[in-house]
Amino acid sequence: MKTSPGLYIHVPFCVRKCHYCDFYSIPCATGDQTFFLDALDRELAALPDRFFPGTVYMGGGTPSSLSVDNLKRLLKLVGKAVDLYHVQEWSIEVNPGTLTPEKARLLIEAGVNRVSLGVQSFDPENLAFLGRIHTRDEAEAAYLMLREAGFANVGIDLIYGIPGSGHAKLAKDLARVIQLNPEHVSCYCLIFEEGTPLTELRDRDRISEVDDEEELDQYNLIRDALDCAGLRQYEISNFARVGRECRHNLLYWSGGEYIGCGPAAHSHWRGMRYGNVRSLESYCAAFKDKSSPREFEERLEPEAKARETLVMSLRRCDGVDRDFFKKDTGFDYRKLAGDQIDWLCSLELLEERDNRLRLTERGLFVSDSVFAELI
Ligand code: SF4
Repeated sequence: MKTSPGLYIHVPFCVRKCHYCDFYSIPCATGDQTFFLDALDRELAALPDRFFPGTVYMGGGTPSSLSVDNLKRLLKLVGKAVDLYHVQEWSIEVNPGTLTPEKARLLIEAGVNRVSLGVQSFDPENLAFLGRIHTRDEAEAAYLMLREAGFANVGIDLIYGIPGSGHAKLAKDLARVIQLNPEHVSCYCLIFEEGTPLTELRDRDRISEVDDEEELDQYNLIRDALDCAGLRQYEISNFARVGRECRHNLLYWSGGEYIGCGPAAHSHWRGMRYGNVRSLESYCAAFKDKSSPREFEERLEPEAKARETLVMSLRRCDGVDRDFFKKDTGFDYRKLAGDQIDWLCSLELLEERDNRLRLTERGLFVSDSVFAELI
């Protein structure tokens, strides 16, 4: 059975930029929010006929930084654009420093049923280092606010590999997460993206990246702690209680189709990959001038698409079923990349058992290098 597509909405506002972030976002001035929602309304109205998403994901940026009135309007726009009857999972990313009981209530009343709470760390020094706008207490209060509003599916996002913050602080963060008992946890290693303040500090030798050995040690700590707490690892950086895996992200990790709306949003739809301009001004201007907000578009050749699906699917811990992959893409993964697969298996980075290919424990940690061989 064909999986339903997903709808992604990029809300391009943040209270202020975190020191490590290179996602597209700007400070949240109310006037800009109105222009954004006007343009988004038009983009959503132009969604293809018979586009019935099974998941909606509102990310950014910080969707929860919208004013109450604008958040209400965003929720209404989604309700108008998609048939919510088909939507099994409607997620929103929430920054703990921007949530209020009123916003939490609005979200659940509209039908949002999953929240990804960007805590990143409970440690005050880590929060300051990362440039987060919230405190530890605000993160905990936001989590409880969501529970009080009735959310039964809450994920907590953490960052590890923070310079100057070792094993002990991470263990404390994990212990607190486990006490709070979320349904889902995402743990991403801090990445030094070009053009961010943290990268500038590193390049001026003011801070150093955590070395590979320490990073692996922290990754294993996360995997062990969350596994013991019943949060099963289902993707390189994601853990969930059974049945609480993020369906929208699983769609990305199986090469599924989705349409992204909002500035800088990307889409994969009907054999095409395209992305909107990374500027709110140009995005809004495009809808005003009735021109296209797209910055690029490309047709995916079947073989390139199959390779991409292979790599994306290998992110999942259950790996890739050979027969299913062939049915889905029209390609046998052994014909696509048999030599590379054999070589990666000989290095114990991939394993193939019962007609299924997956990353090994070692492979999980160096997945980017494995994928570079396969793409
Ligand atoms: S809140 Fe999220 S999107 Fe906004 S700057 Fe921080 S990390 Fe980036």
